[in-house]
Amino acid sequence: MLIITDPAQMAEQCAAWRQAGQSVALVPTMGFFHQGHESLMQAARKNAAKVVLSLFVNPTQFAPTEDLAAYPRDMERDKLIAEGNGVDVLFAPTPELMYPQGYDTWTQVPGLSRLLCGKTRPTHFKGVCTVVLKLFNITRPDLAFFGQKDWQQLAIIRRMAGDLNLGVKVEGVPIVREADGLAMSSRNSYLGEAERTQAPQIHKGLTLARQLFAAGETRSSVLRKRISEFWQEKLPLGRVDYLELVHPETLKAEKTATPESLVITAVYLGKARLIDNQILG
Ligand code: AMP
Repeated sequence: MLIITDPAQMAEQCAAWRQAGQSVALVPTMGFFHQGHESLMQAARKNAAKVVLSLFVNPTQFAPTEDLAAYPRDMERDKLIAEGNGVDVLFAPTPELMYPQGYDTWTQVPGLSRLLCGKTRPTHFKGVCTVVLKLFNITRPDLAFFGQKDWQQLAIIRRMAGDLNLGVKVEGVPIVREADGLAMSSRNSYLGEAERTQAPQIHKGLTLARQLFAAGETRSSVLRKRISEFWQEKLPLGRVDYLELVHPETLKAEKTATPESLVITAVYLGKARLIDNQILG
């Protein structure tokens, strides 16, 4: 596995592969790998001749009050995991190489970015779109893999790729969970013991909505109320940021649930802000 830090060198490598007729898949990450990341690497490995895994804790997607400095990192372990999953290049640029002095260009998908996580993180998706567009421009991938755990991010990147004719196929990969149902996340490492014990209740609450829907309940207000009551009892350490029932592509709130509807949430638990979602049907 090659390790590249220079965007120009990364671009040259991908251009050489393209010229040789080899397809390129990109997997953008912020590192501190878990099995969720590995499942993206494996999907990329299966579907393209060459796999580029980017590892970049992107400063522009963190607000000044957020956890940029504390974000967990373990480059040596990450290298081994990437290599073990057949990654061809680990692209790990520095912030200075990605945002040199005078950097002043931004990309936004404002409509989708204002909703859900955008309410408490109003600048987050502008940073995400900008860095992902830069990564797309550097690598010009045929395919790019994103996790469904960050459902809103996936919807925004799909919209950006379509709107800007980027010619990359954006693939969503199912959420990988711990045995107890908690969605895997690098930020789970922030959880204290009692918080970690309660954290699986986030997923259990969303699953309760699925069960109620299967039993015939379609009123969004009732489904949300039942989840909230469940969490009040089972997740007392949690503070709900949002809990919505939305259309999976437009992310607009729906009053009446359909099998395609998505229940989606963000919950503060100790130092962590955890997100999760589930299709109802
Ligand atoms: P991150 O390093 O947290 O920015 O995540 C990098 C990519 O991995 C994103 O596309 C995430 O959606 C995806 N990802 C993170 N956690 C999971 C998970 N538990 N299951 C599937 N994909 C995930």
